[in-house]
Amino acid sequence: MICPSCKGKGTSVAFVDWHDDSKEHGMDGELMELECHYCGGTGAIADVEAWRKREQRGRNMRNERKSKGESLRDAAKRMGISATKLSQIERGRLDS
Ligand SMILES: [Zn+2]
Repeated sequence: MICPSCKGKGTSVAFVDWHDDSKEHGMDGELMELECHYCGGTGAIADVEAWRKREQRGRNMRNERKSKGESLRDAAKRMGISATKLSQIERGRLDS
């Protein structure tokens, strides 16, 4: 089926926010065009179920972090990865 993330384009433009509440902080983040990680740039995905699970896993990570009151940046530092990467993982765009 056509990739639901990039709608078959193979790339997706993502606003990577540095704050959790980016709506309030507006510009504090960056807009990046990335190879779509759901489909690996092919524009189609074979396994929708795996994609859904990855998205759910990311959401759980984000909820857990928020319940501890930890910021994206602090959590990323603790895990030894960049805030950008953690943001992507939490959005289900990368495997953790
Ligand atoms: Zn895609």
